[in-house]
Amino acid sequence: MATAENRRLDDAYISLVTRSQLYDLKFEEAAVLVARECVDALSVCRASVWLLSDDQSQMRCVALHTKKGDGDNGMVLDTRAFPRYFDALLGARIIDASDAFNDARTSEFTESYLAPLNILSMLDGTIRRDGRVCGILCVESTGRQRNWNTDEKTFVASVADLVTQRLIAAELESSEKMYRALFDNTNVGIAVFGEGQFIEVNPAICSLFGAPAEQIVGKTPTDVSPEFQPCGELSSTKAMRIIETTIKKRSHTFEWLHQKIDGTQFHAEITGNVISADDEEVLFALIRDISARKEAEQKALIAQQQLEYRATHDPLTGLMNRGQFHPYVNELIDRHKREGKTERISLFLFDLNRFKEINDTLGHSMGDRVLVRLSVILKNQVQEIGGALFRLGGDEFVAVFCESRCVEPFESLEQIITQSMRTTIDLDDISVEMGASIGIAMYPDNGADSHELLRCADVAMYHAKQNEGTSSWYDPANDMHNKRRLAMMVELGSAIREDQLTLHFQPRISLSTGQITGCEALVRWKHPRLGMVSPGEFLPLAEMSDLIHPLSEWVLHKVFATLAEFERVGCRMPIALNLSPRNLTDLQLVGKVEALLDANPEMAGMVEIEITEGALINHPQRALQNLNALNDMSIPIAIDDFGTGYSSLSYLKKLPVQALKIDRSFVDDMLNDRSDMVIVESVINLARNFSLQVVAEGVENEQTLKALSALGCDEAQGFHIARPMPADDFCKWALDYMRNGAEKMRALFSEPHRRAG
Ligand code: C2E
Ligand code: CA
Ligand code: CA
Repeated sequence: MATAENRRLDDAYISLVTRSQLYDLKFEEAAVLVARECVDALSVCRASVWLLSDDQSQMRCVALHTKKGDGDNGMVLDTRAFPRYFDALLGARIIDASDAFNDARTSEFTESYLAPLNILSMLDGTIRRDGRVCGILCVESTGRQRNWNTDEKTFVASVADLVTQRLIAAELESSEKMYRALFDNTNVGIAVFGEGQFIEVNPAICSLFGAPAEQIVGKTPTDVSPEFQPCGELSSTKAMRIIETTIKKRSHTFEWLHQKIDGTQFHAEITGNVISADDEEVLFALIRDISARKEAEQKALIAQQQLEYRATHDPLTGLMNRGQFHPYVNELIDRHKREGKTERISLFLFDLNRFKEINDTLGHSMGDRVLVRLSVILKNQVQEIGGALFRLGGDEFVAVFCESRCVEPFESLEQIITQSMRTTIDLDDISVEMGASIGIAMYPDNGADSHELLRCADVAMYHAKQNEGTSSWYDPANDMHNKRRLAMMVELGSAIREDQLTLHFQPRISLSTGQITGCEALVRWKHPRLGMVSPGEFLPLAEMSDLIHPLSEWVLHKVFATLAEFERVGCRMPIALNLSPRNLTDLQLVGKVEALLDANPEMAGMVEIEITEGALINHPQRALQNLNALNDMSIPIAIDDFGTGYSSLSYLKKLPVQALKIDRSFVDDMLNDRSDMVIVESVINLARNFSLQVVAEGVENEQTLKALSALGCDEAQGFHIARPMPADDFCKWALDYMRNGAEKMRALFSEPHRRAG
């Protein structure tokens, strides 16, 4: 009898295990199948499968089969209500409660579960994963008690193990499905390698290489690379090295130049990974196309190099510019000081004779050609002797020689140089006789640094010009004779005190709304004899002396007064004022601004400041301190003439600035000059990356204005919008513009180009 019973349960178990349905069905459906088999094999009324939540606080019935076909699965029980049952489960493979009402392990269920369903006996098998109970197979007898025999217990324990296996398979399947979906749908290329070849690739790899999987599988990484990598190394050699590194480090990210099946190339970023699967090491790679990023990086690099070149060189002649001159000379001086030696250095300052005449009579383009031709002659000569040549601006050049590098005796330089300046330049059918006035200054006799030396050379040059000589050495006595400048310098002091200065205002407009966003105050000198003098003439004098301090202070007060006046006539707008580099080293400046703001709290945010990049060179620490203090008073700071100074990105990050003003030399000709356009474009992008406002200066026509708007430039200023005007005229203009002009202006900026926000 026992044997027959035994065989029947064995058969039932085997038939269950070999039922292919068990593996094809979803887990819940397979569990119902198991429950039904238990009901039949054991002749009980109910069988069910329960799963525990991850924290084991709840058990949920996921499958139930009853003889009568009644009862619902989905029931949830709180495990904490049945502590003894769960204690027992942890330590046993099965719980065999013949008298379920009175068995200590199951009596907790009596009221809530057993009695209502009339369950008298229970035989429960544990479903375990990694040794932990994760579910229960429940066999229940209703209506009559059952004394479970050994075979029945073994049967339930085995079927519970089967459910465990099925559960693990289900979990694996769902995670594999998930990984498969990831593999198939991600846009990151995923490739698996075996013996150095692609053995499996996802669809993203196919689109990266432009070929179906069959064409890629079986290839080696070298097959889909050009012969050489950008560094010059053979792709095959480099690939070997990288694979070794990847195996050693287990995970390794690197850049690689790939070649598609059609021969075109793309830059990729690859992460190689080694994982252990079934005692086997598998190498797989994540491949991303970074061509776009590479191209952007390359563009930014070129723009940056051009910006740096433009910042340090004169665009017309390609010579080093004024900004390079001072560091060059000071470095020469410092080097000798460090070496404990003093070496003579001489400066030759050239000012071309009759250059203005050439410009005026033959036109600017002819003037430019003269400058270029002359600069070539001069540069060759200067370099031959071992010196360096700079263009300071206009028709001013300066050559620098130091004794140790000079191949000619220092004493004969003057003769050689003056000789080479006497030359004729042929342009088309015109011959131009060239000549220059040359001022010479010497270190250490005439000055201790580049500025003093240049000033001396300048004095000497004026002397040469006035005396119609070719060259002249600096002589302190001539300083006194430089009456013109001396007079201006003296007069400027009283001009400030006597209110001969005045401010003109030039507006800035938004390139998305057309509205006025503010204006810039530009100083003028109403000279009693000379008429209106431009700042280009008297500011250098002020900057050379201490007059720049009272001058800026005057501007500052005037700006506050003007703000109030503008407000009165309904023209309230921010006014930007220019500070000279030396102002930023002035310790009292911040205090003065603060006092004015304290006295006029309604003007908070209405004053803006423009500084040039040069402002940070002499006392960077102090300048930065002042800028931070100004910024703390909510004064927006803009970098003026951006692109002509140092343009170093690293310092931009450190400065408390809100805006960049692109120098007008770039804006001027951007529609005709490709390299200017590139610079304007890259400054706009740069500004955006640093979240700075960007203003284009010197906009002289509508086409340029439109182009700037299309490039995403925020604001513009220039003669095309309005010239600088006295305060009264400015207000009239502004009120009229607000009524009629802004809307018309806005219409110029085509919709798609307008920047959002
Ligand atoms: P900036 O700050 O770059 O000022 C702009 C200059 O460009 C002004 O010359 C303005 O008249 C001129 N400008 C504006 N739009 C156009 C245009 O479309 N085309 C052309 N060709 N030029 C245009 P301005 O008034 O002669 O001033 C020259 C420089 O003097 C200023 O250059 C600024 O550096 C300095 N400056 C002016 N006022 C002050 C001041 O109050 N304090 C200080 N420290 N410097 C000042
Ligand atoms: Ca300015
Ligand atoms: Ca400027």
